[in-house]
Amino acid sequence: MARTFPLERCRNIGIIAHIDAGKTTTTERILFYTGKTYRLGSVDEGTTVTDWMVQERERGITIVSAAVTAEWKDYQINLIDTPGHIDFTAEVQRSLRVLDGGVVVFDATQGVEPQSETVWRQADRYNVPRICFINKMDRVGASYEYSIESIRTRLGANPIPMQIPIGAESNFSGVVDLLTMQAITWRDELGREPVYGEIPAELRDEAEERRAILVERIAELDDDLTVKFLEGEEITVEELKAALRRATLANKATPVFCGSSLKNKGVQPVLDAIIDYLPSPLDIPPVRGTDPNSGEEITRPASDDAPLSALVFKIVTDPYVGRLAYFRVYSGKVTSNTMVYNPGKGRKERIGRLLRMYADRREDVEEIPAGDIGAVLGLKESFTGDTLCDPQAPILLESIQFPEPVISVA
Ligand code: GDP
Repeated sequence: MARTFPLERCRNIGIIAHIDAGKTTTTERILFYTGKTYRLGSVDEGTTVTDWMVQERERGITIVSAAVTAEWKDYQINLIDTPGHIDFTAEVQRSLRVLDGGVVVFDATQGVEPQSETVWRQADRYNVPRICFINKMDRVGASYEYSIESIRTRLGANPIPMQIPIGAESNFSGVVDLLTMQAITWRDELGREPVYGEIPAELRDEAEERRAILVERIAELDDDLTVKFLEGEEITVEELKAALRRATLANKATPVFCGSSLKNKGVQPVLDAIIDYLPSPLDIPPVRGTDPNSGEEITRPASDDAPLSALVFKIVTDPYVGRLAYFRVYSGKVTSNTMVYNPGKGRKERIGRLLRMYADRREDVEEIPAGDIGAVLGLKESFTGDTLCDPQAPILLESIQFPEPVISVA
C-alpha cells in the first residue's frame, strides 16, 4: 500500500503544556478542525464542539489517546500525547523521544509557569523544535507581551512573535498575521472558518512596526537574509518563512502565536504553523542504535527501504480491542502478519492487527511506513521502551540518557 502522504508532508508532534494551560481544549479543537466528517460538511451545522467531543467519546475512542492521526491541508499530523504532570518525568522524556516537534501551550494570564520550565528544559535536551501558543487570550489579565517576555527571560528562548491580538480579554476577536499582514477573525462561534481580511485601522501602525521588527529578527537568523536586509532589498514572505523554519529546526528561534482555544479562535493558524515550522521525519537526524550482536554503532535513515527499526512508546489497554502497543517507525516499515525481533528481550513476535488511530475511528492498515506512528494488537513480550526490528538486521535503539536523576524506563 502506498503512503497517503510523502514523508516530507508528515509531522509527529506533541502538544506540551503545564497542567491547566489548555492542552486538552487545544487538542480537541485541533481534532475538530482537522476532522474528516467536519471537513466533508457532513457534520450537522448545529453540532457544537462539545457535542462532537461527547460523540467521539461515545464511539469509544479517547480523544487524547497515545497518538492520533489528523490531516490538515494535505499534510498528515500525528499528535502524540504528552503528560501534563511533572511527576511523569520519565513519561515526558519517552514522548519527547518519539515526537519531532512540539506546540507549547501557555496560559496568557500566567506566562511561563514552573512546570513549563521543566518540560522546556527536557525538550531542549532532546533538541525538540517548538512553536508556542499563548492560549486563554480571552481571560481577564491575559497578556501576550508578558507571556512572550517570560518565554525570553525564564526559558532563555528566542521567541518570535508572529501575530498581534485583535481586542483584549472578553473582546479578543482574532489576530493579525504579521508575515502576511492580514487580520484573521472567526465570525462563526465554533471557529470553523477563519476569515482573512484587512487589519483594523487602529492596529495598522502597530502592525507595521511589529512587522518591521519581525523581518529584522528573522533576517538576523539567516546569513543570506542578513545581507539582503542590510542592502535594503525586498524579502518575500516565502523567504522569511523558509529562514524561520531553518532557525526553528535548529532550535535558534521559536515562533509565537496566540488565541483562545475555548472561544475557538486561533487554532487553525497553529495548524498552519505546525506545517510551516516544525520538522518532518526527514528533518531529524537518522536514528542511532547498536548492533546487539557486535555492539557496533549503527544509524538508520528515515526510509521505507531501510531495514525496520521501531520503538514501542506506550502500551494501552483499549476497552474495545485489547492490549495495544503504540510505536514509532524510524526506518523500514511494520507490516501486518510478519515477524519482528525485539532485541532487548531476545524474542521474535508476530505483528497482528495494525491500526491507525483517528479521532473519530480506528483504521486497519497493512503497514506503517518509516517516520510514521501506529498501534499493533497482539504483542505479548514487548513493552514501553522496547525496540522492534528486522530479525535479519537487528538494531537496539539508543536507550534514553538521563544526565540527572537516573530514572529507569524499561
Ligand atoms: P490542560 O490541563 O492543559 O489539558 O487544560 P484544559 O484544556 O483541560 O483546560 C483547563 C481549563 O482551562 C478548563 O476549565 C478549560 O475550559 C479552560 N480553558 C482552556 N482554554 C481556555 C481558553 O482559551 N480560555 C479560557 N477562558 N479558558 C480556557
